[in-house]
Amino acid sequence: MRKILLLIIIMLMACRFSAPSPVFAPAVTVRPEPNFRVITHPDGALYVGDLVSFEVFSPTGVSVSGQRVRINRGDKSLGETSFQPSGLGARSQATFYWAWDTRGLEAGTYTLTFSLPVGNTRWDEKITLLPAAAIPLPEPKARWESVNTDCCVIHYISGTDAEADIETLKRMAAAQAVDVEARLNNKFDKKTPLTFLPRVLGHGGFTSDGIYVTYLRQNYAGSTAQQVTHHEMVHWLDAQMGGDQRPSVLQEGLAVYMSDGHFKVEPILPRAAALLDLGLFIPLRQLSDSFYATQHEIGYVEAAALISYLTATYGPDEFNSFYRDIHSAPGNSQADMLDSALQMHFKISLAQLEQNFIAFLQQQAIGETDRADLRLTVAFYDTVRRYQRVLDPSAYFLTAWLPNAPEMRSRGIVADFVRHPHAAVNQELERLLASSDASLRVGNYIAAEAGIRAVNLTLDVLEKWQK
Ligand SMILES: [Zn+2]
Repeated sequence: MRKILLLIIIMLMACRFSAPSPVFAPAVTVRPEPNFRVITHPDGALYVGDLVSFEVFSPTGVSVSGQRVRINRGDKSLGETSFQPSGLGARSQATFYWAWDTRGLEAGTYTLTFSLPVGNTRWDEKITLLPAAAIPLPEPKARWESVNTDCCVIHYISGTDAEADIETLKRMAAAQAVDVEARLNNKFDKKTPLTFLPRVLGHGGFTSDGIYVTYLRQNYAGSTAQQVTHHEMVHWLDAQMGGDQRPSVLQEGLAVYMSDGHFKVEPILPRAAALLDLGLFIPLRQLSDSFYATQHEIGYVEAAALISYLTATYGPDEFNSFYRDIHSAPGNSQADMLDSALQMHFKISLAQLEQNFIAFLQQQAIGETDRADLRLTVAFYDTVRRYQRVLDPSAYFLTAWLPNAPEMRSRGIVADFVRHPHAAVNQELERLLASSDASLRVGNYIAAEAGIRAVNLTLDVLEKWQK
């Protein structure tokens, strides 16, 4: 306990000492009136030469949906756009990508004016640009690089861990692609675009116009690049294989099932059975209708077990026919669509499927390790997300900063991915999270739990201190 208290004191001192430093000067300003909030990107301090983006948020409880907001520097307009739902969390915001080109400006503090025509709302933000010479490594020389392999077009940024390990990553990606094709009994119809990111975003991987995987030797989100690459490649090939509506619960379940686990190879059925045992099982209707809003690790393992059950019960081919034959109807939720397709293909309702699935899970043997590992995995990733909300908010999966990567490559922009919060407190908590994950992976649950607790105690103090 004394060690933890000491750590908290060190954390707080680190925060206090890092705050006045120009390197860590916050670029985010919050105004008491009219309480609109602005986040700038790249994360952290801004430098001369940056292409600055803005996220603008309205005060809590004030509806501005569809309204337009404008940014000016003096008489010069930096752009105008409307508030709309954004990201997985559908957060209402006005987003300006790379709206302020600071190349050629002097270092110093600038005043930008934000205005909404409706209601004549207007406020100023003072934003400091530090000298370009102060940009920390590896960014000044960092550039986008691309390499073609048999399976993939791999993109990465020079000077990052991905560049140092690119030969290993090429072999790793090739092996995952071969395995994914074999498991889905299908071939990628073209080379997969695969980008290795030098910062954590979300849980370390996502698929949109290509596959994006965090690659860091110290990855505080704990995931391994190999496991995440496999998971995202399943999504990529799954999308290529088609289907009218593929409910999120089945898409994510398939990716975890085909990867033999979520963030690591793990016994899916015993872990899902442990969910029942621990009272954590999520009803299938709820899981289907709000997949990304339910507890992340529980939802994913339960979904994977559901795929395992469906393929074991009906066969992989029948499952595949059902999965790619799900359709929407007016007013139907994802659970409703699932229910209709289940009745058509397997002559059962979603409620009957849930009963059968639970009975199937109750037959699984559960080891003490399954319970302990599952409980701590949930606690670990809850802590990762809490850390992101408090100290790395642009990484939090529901509101992550995900600018268009192909455009970044064509314009030579790297800062949005290279920069991330790196104050002493970030570094220390990320080190603790990475070490907790390492302990969890080797079954040292006492050390893992102690690390998770230390991070949470520190976040408790920081959150109180921030209020
Ligand atoms: Zn996924």
